[in-house]
Amino acid sequence: MFPCYACGQCCKNVDKSNETKFLDRGDGTCRNFNEESRLCNIYEGRPLVCRVEDYYKANLADTYQWDDFVKINLEVCQILSKNLNIE
Ligand code: SF4
Repeated sequence: MFPCYACGQCCKNVDKSNETKFLDRGDGTCRNFNEESRLCNIYEGRPLVCRVEDYYKANLADTYQWDDFVKINLEVCQILSKNLNIE
C-alpha cells in the first residue's frame, strides 16, 4: 500500500499534472474534493490516476520498482506541502 496520510494536497493540485487536469474545478482543486473532510467524494469510484497502486500496476510497473515509485511520489508530496506551508 502507498503510505498516504490523506493530507489532500494531491487533490488540491490537480492542475499541475496533465494526468489530472481534467479534474480541475477551476482553481486547481479537484471537483470531487471535500473541503471539510479533506477526503474524496467519489472515493470508491475515483479515476484510475487517483488509485495509486492500480495506476502503478497498469502503467508503471515495467518502468519503476514499487519502492522507487513510492519514494518519488513522497518527494512530490513533500514539495506540494512545503509550497503551501503545510507540514
Ligand atoms: S477524484 Fe478524489 S482522489 Fe482523485 S483528485 Fe479528486 S478528490 Fe482526489
